[in-house]
Amino acid sequence: MPYHCDLSPGQKIYLDNPGSITLITLASTGAGQQQQSSTQVHTGSWTEVPQIVRVGNGVILRCVAAQGTFFWQIQGMQIGVAPATAWATDQAIPMQTAEVGSSPIASMPPMPPMAPMQMGDMQMSSNPMTLRMGKMTFGSDTPTVNTQKFCTQCGAAIAQGDRFCGSCGHQLP
Ligand SMILES: [Zn+2]
Repeated sequence: MPYHCDLSPGQKIYLDNPGSITLITLASTGAGQQQQSSTQVHTGSWTEVPQIVRVGNGVILRCVAAQGTFFWQIQGMQIGVAPATAWATDQAIPMQTAEVGSSPIASMPPMPPMAPMQMGDMQMSSNPMTLRMGKMTFGSDTPTVNTQKFCTQCGAAIAQGDRFCGSCGHQLP
């Protein structure tokens, strides 16, 4: 069962336990930008609901799983392994984790970079919407508003009409 928790306005953490790994995804939104950072660790299945406490200017995440108890420290968009001694619930503010029925972000592991898809001499691009097959072109040549877009995976700036992020290879919507 995946969980999510609001760390701060505009920053969320998603936790999932697909198979025997713990998948931690940080997502932040603000000023038209989306940033995402995730890590996955082989922990075995969770035996308890993961807990998050706020310490200093970050949070500590504790996961009790089949292979032991795991701790991570999260500061900004950084996820790092934390020593067990970092867990001091008496000084920390527990944060409420909530179950999510379906988390499209957490259930999608980072994709390895891949080359743009090519099918013979058929090309598709979504902006502007054109479909070119051989010498025929369908679609409109209406100029589109030039708004800067960013990769939903790594936050890199992407050009209009790009189907894949030039930085991480993520397939763009
Ligand atoms: Zn990217």
